[in-house]
Amino acid sequence: MAILPVRIYGDPLLRKRAERLENIDAATDSLVENMYATLAKQNGIGLAAPQVGLSRRLFVADTSPVIERGSRAVFINPEIIGTDGDAVYEEGCLSFPGIYFDLHRPRRVGIRYLDLQGNEHNLEANGVLARIILHEFDHLEGRLFIDLLTEEAREKIKKLMRQRNIIPAKP
Ligand code: ZN
Repeated sequence: MAILPVRIYGDPLLRKRAERLENIDAATDSLVENMYATLAKQNGIGLAAPQVGLSRRLFVADTSPVIERGSRAVFINPEIIGTDGDAVYEEGCLSFPGIYFDLHRPRRVGIRYLDLQGNEHNLEANGVLARIILHEFDHLEGRLFIDLLTEEAREKIKKLMRQRNIIPAKP
């Protein structure tokens, strides 16, 4: 197992639409193990492959830091089937270390995806898992959680990140 370096906001890979994962093989198993280890190390709850440098449609979730008897899951080539409701949740992102803010997203999500054995699943999620799925799915599309903010709020966050030396200061 290895802790993987996480790409930080500003890295162009985070803005690229990820491609389908064609072969689910031993390399995928070890990638997923490393992603879980990386998540655990940072006490995170979700991580998408592009964040660790691989532009493929895969993400992992681990709800154990936030709910009792939480669990891990891997989502490969996921498709969002539907969403409904509205919920506010304080989100963070490993590509934006130390940045958290409240965001509205749908309360429930239906998702179809493959597991590590290549089996297809249909899942209806709510609560924190729905939130993870929606946030991580966006990563596969090259979208980031700051995109859901107003321009003004987004600039505030970028400024904060520059002040904290998370991203380079403006030239
Ligand atoms: Zn994220």
